[in-house]
Amino acid sequence: MAQDLSGYGFGTRAVHGGTEPEPVTGAIMTPVFQTSTYVQPRPAEAKLHEYSRTGNPTRDALEAAVATLEGAPHGLAFASGMAAIDAVLRLLSAGDHVVAGDDLYGGTYRLFTKVLQRCGLSFSFVDTSNLAAVEAALRPETRLLWVETPTNPLLKISDLSALAAIARRAGALFAVDNTFATPALQQPLSLGADLVVHSTTKYVGGHSDVVGGAVVTRDPELRERLAFIQNAAGAVPGPWDCFLTLRGLKTLHLRMERHCDNAEAVAAFLAEHPKVTRVHYPGLPSHPGHEVARRQMRRCGGMVSFELEGGIQPGYDLCLRTRIFRLAESLGGVESLVEQPATMTHASVEPEVRRAAGLADGLVRLSVGVEDREDLLADLEQALDAV
Ligand SMILES: *Cc1c(COP(=O)(O)O)cnc(C)c1O
Repeated sequence: MAQDLSGYGFGTRAVHGGTEPEPVTGAIMTPVFQTSTYVQPRPAEAKLHEYSRTGNPTRDALEAAVATLEGAPHGLAFASGMAAIDAVLRLLSAGDHVVAGDDLYGGTYRLFTKVLQRCGLSFSFVDTSNLAAVEAALRPETRLLWVETPTNPLLKISDLSALAAIARRAGALFAVDNTFATPALQQPLSLGADLVVHSTTKYVGGHSDVVGGAVVTRDPELRERLAFIQNAAGAVPGPWDCFLTLRGLKTLHLRMERHCDNAEAVAAFLAEHPKVTRVHYPGLPSHPGHEVARRQMRRCGGMVSFELEGGIQPGYDLCLRTRIFRLAESLGGVESLVEQPATMTHASVEPEVRRAAGLADGLVRLSVGVEDREDLLADLEQALDAV
């Protein structure tokens, strides 16, 4: 049984959350319980678990640790961020309506429109930084408000406390995908969210070596329903993936400080560069969400996007010229990455939908890693010189 860490600071909770010395050997790190089943003392009686889809001690430790980070009692781990999101949507039934952001992670938009819509759910996509637009999209059958903040890739900021109040009045659940901010910078449950979802593939795991997802809640009834879905549908992570994620998240607080330091420097550098027409970073006072970000986030995170003039080509060329910023999808790892949303992560979003949401063809997205700041700035400078 893990100790109660609720009175401790974030770093202490990150290091110790969910992990107790292993009782037989005293191992300080939770072992990889690489087993599918467990020997039972008697029929219909289990020591702890019966079968690893339903429960596994390495997964238990990860689930408790992620919950601890978000300051909540209940966490559930999934095979990927998408599996976690899918599990939350399975709380709904055919005929239910969802209000969701119009600048979502591309895979989330694809799941909603290409899979779940077919199963009888309906979706309205609105700019959730505009509270009036959210109110206007509500229907009597709205059961879920789904929000990312900061968004991907435009880093738009939505007011979580205000949205929580809107969802509560509408009788809808309020779920926040907290992948970009991480609990080190923003804790949606304390601002009124019912559910927090993570792609732990990103900052929580942090080392680009494992795919995973998590859902966290304070509500025991939601936890029960989600655990039922987790076991019934079976999109669980294996013990080795749980171990890697657990190891990664112990340094989340250290990594996030460095990600933020570097991203602030990169955003300031890009804002001054003559070839850059626009920088999206909530930490810049010019960002439309700056004030709300200051209220609800401790710092503004490691993601920066910016626009180059001339459509797809200049960004395409830039992606080929950076040396430290590696050209890859994904984000949140220790390595700096660069990508072009229009041709890569958001290629599955129809061009008209993309442009209507303000996602320019010339947009370049950076996941600013934890390398030395001078090297990152020099790398961007030489790449920008060449485009
Ligand atoms: C990556 C990502 C997801 C999906 O997570 P996977 O682990 O890739 O399945 C969902 N939301 C956001 C914001 C993401 O960045």
